[in-house]
Amino acid sequence: MASVKVAVRCRPLNKREEALGSSVIISMQGRKTFITNVKAPLEASGGDSGRERAKTFAFDFSYWSADKNDSHCINEDTVFADLGIGVIDAAIEGYNACVFAYGQTGSGKTHTMMGSQESPDVVGLTPRICQGLYNKIEMLKGEGISFRTEVSYLEIYNERVRDLLCTLGTGEEFGTHSLRVREHPKEGPYVQDLSKHLVMNYADIQDLMNIGNNRRTTAATQMNDTSSRSHAIFTITFSQARFSRDMPSEMVSKVHLVDLAGSERADASGATGVRLKEGGSINKSLVTLGTVIHALADMCSVRSPEKKQMFIPYRNSVLTWLLKDSLGGNSKTIMIATISPADVNYAETLSTLRYANRAKNI
Ligand code: ADP
Ligand code: MG
Repeated sequence: MASVKVAVRCRPLNKREEALGSSVIISMQGRKTFITNVKAPLEASGGDSGRERAKTFAFDFSYWSADKNDSHCINEDTVFADLGIGVIDAAIEGYNACVFAYGQTGSGKTHTMMGSQESPDVVGLTPRICQGLYNKIEMLKGEGISFRTEVSYLEIYNERVRDLLCTLGTGEEFGTHSLRVREHPKEGPYVQDLSKHLVMNYADIQDLMNIGNNRRTTAATQMNDTSSRSHAIFTITFSQARFSRDMPSEMVSKVHLVDLAGSERADASGATGVRLKEGGSINKSLVTLGTVIHALADMCSVRSPEKKQMFIPYRNSVLTWLLKDSLGGNSKTIMIATISPADVNYAETLSTLRYANRAKNI
């Protein structure tokens, strides 16, 4: 039975927003997130509901992460306890899982998924999930189960795939976005020629994660920050083999940890030409992902018990096609929408909250 969880996380005001004298337009209470449109009239006049001042959304979790010194503030420990541990448990039980961070550039996707490069004590969900998985594996090894773990790390840009862990020395320093997704009749979608790396312990995973992250940031400074315009998928595939009553059995699970492209709308960035086309294909993946998760949430909703066989448009984008086997079915899906608290980002933040709202179980 598929499960979809949605969380919203609000970061602190950044220096730029502070310098602009921005006011905070987000507040949270329990599972609820409130957003205020400071430009709307204080008294909503009749028939002007489209411009009402405050809007309320409810999610599985609303994380106020706006101030480290605020006792209501949610840190990486809580995010991991609420969302990461369930992913580890699902993977050990043999299910697939996907965790997505969605939001405009600068809202905290990478902070939440990977951690902070400025402060190494901020460790994000991806390293924590990998470490937790390895702790479990070490425990279970003692029970006669054998494990095989592989890691891959890729980027989708303009509906093309680049291997972030490909072997260097080919003259192609970072690899190009030239790999294609194909579909095996039995094993499902895969990226042709993507490298897979066998790992023995958490330190091995950490090394690979660092290589991929460095390639992303280095390429970003050289290539006009493509990292904010590409989706990064870190994947751990692991199989467990056990012998029960002399019968060997094998179970394979995949965990995908996804730092999505910035969700800022093409119309707002004044994009033209190549940028516009690119914006269009980034949106294609984000829009399709929203539609797919909405359909999945709808299917597992208690209010549609008929469980009709719905058509889910996985193949409409590379992102959803590639993740097809890990979205729906018995997989666990988690969407974390990251937002800025500042009034200057009102339109983007509202659009992020609406996207997250669509992903919820109805
Ligand atoms: P994105 O990946 O969405 O573009 P980042 O994760 O790089 O955004 O975040 C932008 C900046 O804001 C970084 O300096 C990051 O450390 C900071 N930041 C983001 N989220 C938080 C948070 N929850 N608490 C403190 N700082 C944050
Ligand atoms: Mg980022």
